[in-house]
Amino acid sequence: MARYVFITGGVVSSLGKGLAAAALGAVLQARGFRVRLRKLDPYINVDPGLMSPYQHGEVYVTDDGAETDLDLGHYERFTGVPTSRADNATTGRIYLDIITKERRGDYLGATVQVIPHVTDAIKEFILSDTGEADVVLIEIGGTVGDIEGLPFFEAIRQLGNELGPGRSCFIHLTLLPFISSAGELKTKPTQHSVKELRSIGIQPDILLCRSDRPIPADERRKIGLFCNVQPQRVIPALDAGNIYEVPAQYHAEGLDREVLSVLGLPDAAEPDLSRWHTIASTYGHPEGEVRIAVVGKYVEIQDAYKSLREALDHGGIANRVRVVPEWIPSEVFEAPDAVQRLEAVHGILVPGGFGERGAEGKVAAAGFARERKVPFFGICFGMQMAVIEVARHLAGLEGAGSTEFGPAVDPVVGLLTEWMGREGREKRKAGGDLGGTMRLGAYEAILKSGSRIAQIYARKRISERHRHRYEVNMAYRERLERAGLIFAGVSPDGLLPETVEIPDHPWFIGVQFHPELKSKPFDPHPLFAIFIEAAVAQSRLV
Ligand code: GLN
Repeated sequence: MARYVFITGGVVSSLGKGLAAAALGAVLQARGFRVRLRKLDPYINVDPGLMSPYQHGEVYVTDDGAETDLDLGHYERFTGVPTSRADNATTGRIYLDIITKERRGDYLGATVQVIPHVTDAIKEFILSDTGEADVVLIEIGGTVGDIEGLPFFEAIRQLGNELGPGRSCFIHLTLLPFISSAGELKTKPTQHSVKELRSIGIQPDILLCRSDRPIPADERRKIGLFCNVQPQRVIPALDAGNIYEVPAQYHAEGLDREVLSVLGLPDAAEPDLSRWHTIASTYGHPEGEVRIAVVGKYVEIQDAYKSLREALDHGGIANRVRVVPEWIPSEVFEAPDAVQRLEAVHGILVPGGFGERGAEGKVAAAGFARERKVPFFGICFGMQMAVIEVARHLAGLEGAGSTEFGPAVDPVVGLLTEWMGREGREKRKAGGDLGGTMRLGAYEAILKSGSRIAQIYARKRISERHRHRYEVNMAYRERLERAGLIFAGVSPDGLLPETVEIPDHPWFIGVQFHPELKSKPFDPHPLFAIFIEAAVAQSRLV
């Protein structure tokens, strides 16, 4: 019988609830429990697929093709448990299902209301498809007191009651700000936040208090007294040196012990956190440094490339070096000679992206990497731009372009309208709804034996996650291969290109999928590990 841990936030947003949930999941897992992590997002969008990366950060894609919140990326990276469509729901999703049922007449004429219909749907989401999990951790997005979050808080309140003692645990994450004029950490915002939570019927079992300095014992007692929480359950969450220290830090502060005591599991084995100690110390004490230019579009917003940023770090961990990304908006390379700026870097990465703005800058960056033999890694849009570059400059297709930007003389990248999906043939309407036209989720690829990429994966058949509408056009394959760009990975039916590479180059690889989504600190993705290895070799040359 699964137990449930609810994680809510108070005082301010951006306290890192996702990371807190993920790190707690990792510690429970290290104690031998099977965990599952889920996120409930109170906004009205049906999923984050159409939300701007500027507002919402990256869209994290699961194997089963759901476009989800980036916190699911933290969950996977910390626990290794693959997330799915069943692990992220928004207000929009819940209402869409309810309204669809209402239109079908499923409610038999009943008045459809927030309580019980919306709260029931939320509870059903929380309880369904939990598989083998011993502990399910559920993070509620937003902050207590937000109007749109109310049905979620009401649903978990009801659920706590229905599950009964020992089957649920409520953790509230708050902030203790330090006020320098008073020289004190202030507990009042936490008191108010808990008051708000209690006014809707939720008494937190545990308070996880973010703070930039140690919390004196007196203050912990005071918070416990005012918030009706046992003092040993007022847990400090101090700023960590790096995120990989968080699981061990939580354990040292007793978070997992208290969670398990609330859940009636006080005798669980001590956790084996050696994996986290090793990662945190390797990451914290690098033996060198490589600079990687990330030539993208949303470079000012680091959350827009969250998984990529972390996968680069994992590649660094694999090679015991610090990876310093230089985030460069691709448009700068549209000015003549601007690419010379790339002379100082040890690797060039062009990540995924959408739309014409800055595309020529990405083509130019790929061209620089190819000619100057700098390690190059093109991901999704980055691969498409690299193929266009090679088509124009090595294959003599001067008019090569992507139909994403309008008609092209040589549509080397074009819209694909039919392909073999997980459940048979799938079709995509050229003018369909924006939300429903992408190739999404895990697809397999077959790697050509002897190719660089097959060596990197040390396997012939791989599965990676996709999120794109356009494909490199196989009609140009022969000409591009003659020019030196090999289609080393293709879909099992041979119709879709999945990876390209230039054998006559130290490291030039493009992939149509997003390998960064599956990289983990304890299991760095081989493409990132070997790309950073190539950058280390490059750093010895420049
Ligand atoms: N815009 C491109 C496409 O839709 C690439 C998408 C991406 O990089 N995720 O095919």
